[in-house]
Amino acid sequence: MSKLHAGDSKTNEYLQRYIDGVERRNPGQPEFCQAVNEVATTVFPYLADKPEYHENQILERMAEPERVISFRVPWTDDDGRIRTNRGWRVQFNSAIGPYKGGVRFHPSVNESILKFLGFEQTFKNSLTGLPMGGGKGGANFNPKGKSDNEVMRFCQSFITELYRHIGEDTDVPAGDIGVGGREIGYMFGQYKRITNRFVGVLTGKGLEFGGSKMRTEATGYGAIFFLRNMLAQHKDSIEGKSVLVSGSGNVATHACEKVLQLGGKALTMSDSGGFIHCADGFSQEQIDWVKELKAVRRGRISEAADEFSNITFQEGRPWGVVGDCAVPSATQNEVSADDAKTLINNGVKAVGEAANMPCEQAAVDAFVDAGVIFGPAKAVNAGGVGVSGLEMSQNSGRISWGEAELKKLLENMMTDIHDSCVQYGESKSGPVDYLAGANIAGFVKVADAMLSYGHV
Ligand code: NDP
Repeated sequence: MSKLHAGDSKTNEYLQRYIDGVERRNPGQPEFCQAVNEVATTVFPYLADKPEYHENQILERMAEPERVISFRVPWTDDDGRIRTNRGWRVQFNSAIGPYKGGVRFHPSVNESILKFLGFEQTFKNSLTGLPMGGGKGGANFNPKGKSDNEVMRFCQSFITELYRHIGEDTDVPAGDIGVGGREIGYMFGQYKRITNRFVGVLTGKGLEFGGSKMRTEATGYGAIFFLRNMLAQHKDSIEGKSVLVSGSGNVATHACEKVLQLGGKALTMSDSGGFIHCADGFSQEQIDWVKELKAVRRGRISEAADEFSNITFQEGRPWGVVGDCAVPSATQNEVSADDAKTLINNGVKAVGEAANMPCEQAAVDAFVDAGVIFGPAKAVNAGGVGVSGLEMSQNSGRISWGEAELKKLLENMMTDIHDSCVQYGESKSGPVDYLAGANIAGFVKVADAMLSYGHV
């Protein structure tokens, strides 16, 4: 069990009983139990003198998705063979708005991972201040090595079942790992064809058919705005700082770009094969090259070392490189307790989780104990869903906002999220407890809406 940040023995006893219950009801779902544990550990002490939440079983109800849909996704490969995958949509919580959250295509996808992501999404969406509930979906489909036509047929089959469960006022999916502009385009096209309706049912769409400017950049840029705000809160600045980034997809490349724009140096990027290191900090040309490599050519990050003389490639993760800040941007549990120790020994000052739950619980505890400024995913990467929310607003109003306006809205949103975390997480001694701050700030709005509805 993870550590309590506050609380008396009665709170600890309730908490333990709660966590035991969640584990009993969700056997074989470690990622989901880990996510609930993390939220409960920070929210329970806050609720100690607020009995109405316990009396109304708010946390028990919050840990149960409103609905989980699981379905068969048959498709035909280029050799004419019929293939079958499993698809899901977890509609977690709609207390403050339509379900909203990404779709992930990756062989590791299972119900535990999607429930963890949907649960986290509920609090993240609440933090943005926009009216969005929490959801997540995906399939255990591996887009790697598939032709465009195979991906298209898979997306069409996936949406041919999912379309009946989603809608612009019901559930609005978006992209995630393995689901970018290409996949959203195929899914939106099939939705429109089946329903004969042109509505904002998906976000992350192309700009030609209702997408929002700044959506592609939003998660990575937002994460670095949040990192900058955390440093400023602690009388420091991102200028001149070296930043270790993992991943090389949408989030990682835009995080590197914003580090560069704000006067810092992004030293690393990675993929599942290893990481690249550039001691000078990646240039815009190198970042653009990686974007093209990953989003268009779908190549391996190791290729960057053949292309640029100041870039080296190594197997493993980038956490052994010395840097001032770390922004894990690839996937869940990619920073272990040992990685955290290495980063701490190397003098890391701040860690911002740009991927979802990239740090194992023991790694988070190690950062907090060592006084490292720690920004949790649900706050740090909320800019992506924030701009998705703005895409929904633009679609409803059949309007399109300009880039400068959206950039400002994103930056302001990240500042508001940061300030909400400080409101609930300010500490008299060490750095702000952003983990507790984000969990409590996200929780309060959803919980109060649930209280208003009665027992539903
Ligand atoms: P992409 O699919 O664009 O990129 C994912 C990157 O992570 C790739 O570089 C991939 O490498 C790497 N990766 C995946 N699995 C592993 C692994 N097991 N070990 C090492 N590297 C791995 O995804 P995104 O950039 O969109 O998403 C990254 C993270 O950010 C995810 O946790 C996602 O949930 C989160 N997120 C994304 C948002 C968005 O707007 N896109 C919004 C909020 C959160 P490879 O090519 O080898 O697979």
